[in-house]
Amino acid sequence: MSEVRHNWTKEEVLDIYNRPLMELLYDAATIHRKQHDPNVVQVSTLLSIKTGGCSEDCGYCPQAARYHTNVEGNDLMSVNQVKAQALRAKESGSSRVCMGAAWRNVKDGPEFDQVLDMVRSINKLEMEVCCTLGMVTENQAQRLAEAGLYAYNHNLDSSEEYYKKVISTRGYQDRLDTIDNVRKTNVTVCSGGIIGMGESAADRAGMLVALSTLNPQPESTPINALVAVEGTPLEDEKPVKTWDMIRMVATTRIVLPETQVRLSAGRTQMSREGQAMCFFAGANSIFAGDKLLTTPNPDVNEDMKMFELLGLNPQKPFTKKVQPQTVEAKDSKFEALGEKPKWTRPEHTIERNEVAKQKGKTVKA
Ligand code: SF4
Repeated sequence: MSEVRHNWTKEEVLDIYNRPLMELLYDAATIHRKQHDPNVVQVSTLLSIKTGGCSEDCGYCPQAARYHTNVEGNDLMSVNQVKAQALRAKESGSSRVCMGAAWRNVKDGPEFDQVLDMVRSINKLEMEVCCTLGMVTENQAQRLAEAGLYAYNHNLDSSEEYYKKVISTRGYQDRLDTIDNVRKTNVTVCSGGIIGMGESAADRAGMLVALSTLNPQPESTPINALVAVEGTPLEDEKPVKTWDMIRMVATTRIVLPETQVRLSAGRTQMSREGQAMCFFAGANSIFAGDKLLTTPNPDVNEDMKMFELLGLNPQKPFTKKVQPQTVEAKDSKFEALGEKPKWTRPEHTIERNEVAKQKGKTVKA
């Protein structure tokens, strides 16, 4: 029942998503118990190491420079600032730090070298280190691996069909190629998506098919509920219903049985009871900390109270895979190649992105 399959069809996944809820929950929880300890939840802290001013047009994102939002941009943080925040995260129960930079893609140079030093310093704190920095080449992924990176996040966001209605500045294939580049190293893959962007249930199923086709499947999959931010093209989308989130988590658990399914953005819109249903349905990871990059997230003390109430325990670091070794910059086997990869720019017109961009121009004028 819980063998890993890479040949799911959209129809099969949609049928699962639409099952009567009690059956869906029972099936997902059964698989969850076979593959994972149902009382253990991995806790990650997401740090925005470089905020705002991004050149991309992701319709959900308040960090895109072309939209007018209340996000204040920040240059790349220092290694010491990141280390201090990582220590605080460790003290409050996180086993992983995920560093996010609002970049289209990684560029070789001093800023990337600084990120590599951040990876080294967090690894030395005996925490799992994850990065989400945009598209990466194989060489850049190797350099991250050598610095001691545990995971690289690059979300598929949605089904390939619906993706075209959200982003025009980077192609779906670029995302798959980035994941492929990470797979050529010993870094684990974290990839998931967002629901509540106006997509259909079939699109949600399509995203899970795309994730399931990856071989191996991602080691972790964040399921985000859109947090609609004023000024972005998706500002008017209604909050995701908790029932939809529960169905999505349960379906993800069935289709990606071995993956850690992460409850990500949108938890502030959910009650504890709703989150408990998600844990029952197979979610076994959360993001902790009062902010998720730029959007609100529950207070870490509230999360720890919820864990106590539900009898959940935070997962220890390196439970699933041994700690990667850290190679110092001076001993590196991989030189910066200064590549200029041709990541695509489909640049088709997305009406709502154009409207938000024009609005942004008017407000800024
Ligand atoms: S999601 Fe990432 S790539 Fe897209 S606009 Fe936001 S920061 Fe830029």
